[in-house]
Amino acid sequence: CGIVGFTGEHQAAPILLDGLSKLEYRGYDSAGIAVRDGSADAEIIKAKGRLKVLAEKTNDGESVKGTCGIGHTRWATHGEPSENNAHPHASDDGNVVAVHNGIIENYQELKDKLVRKGYTFYSETDTEVAVKLIDYYYKKYEGTPVDAINHALVRIRGSYALAIMFRDYPEEIYVARKDSPMILGVANGESYIGSDVPAILKYTRDVYYIGNQEMARVRKGEITFYNLDGEEIEKELKTVEWDA
Ligand code: GLU
Repeated sequence: CGIVGFTGEHQAAPILLDGLSKLEYRGYDSAGIAVRDGSADAEIIKAKGRLKVLAEKTNDGESVKGTCGIGHTRWATHGEPSENNAHPHASDDGNVVAVHNGIIENYQELKDKLVRKGYTFYSETDTEVAVKLIDYYYKKYEGTPVDAINHALVRIRGSYALAIMFRDYPEEIYVARKDSPMILGVANGESYIGSDVPAILKYTRDVYYIGNQEMARVRKGEITFYNLDGEEIEKELKTVEWDA
């Protein structure tokens, strides 16, 4: 339902919680964040119910250290509203951690394939299938995150906005979208991700609109866009004129 992301110099958790609060109007049943401190594995905290519960669990984000992270408010489509089904979802070894808006229509078929490849599933979500599919292609082809996401996306049917962290790429977030909104903002050497403008408006008005079936690599203050062939594409920085 709602997605936020941040990589920069500031602590990520309070920015993620603040961004999610701006998306509350959309409705949700649970929420979660994943934050990385340098090259350490992501710390994932989730809670069923109001954002307030997540804020209390993390002392308003103060107890979670790290300058790169992703956050989500979930409106369940596959699997009941629960802490376990809340995002972020991670691959077993923590190699890939992601949040997702939308619906993966062929998730059952992809899940069966991944089970045959030895993957175990711990949630009822279609999202966990996307996370493990990306992990599968990342390991199979030993390429870049963009290659792995690309391989997964050509097999996924449905709608998605995804924000993904890879263990091997600290301080970076990868995003992809199709038929589900997502914007990327930059300011003062920092980068912001939001599924809707209000999530990031407090921090920047300089944004890029990522197109359908495009991907982006988000580094601190630097965003690179790719098409489904993995080729770099140019994007114009736009200024958001309206007020939230
Ligand atoms: N289909 C996903 C789920 O049920 C994402 C739902 C959403 O957009 O929040 O977990």
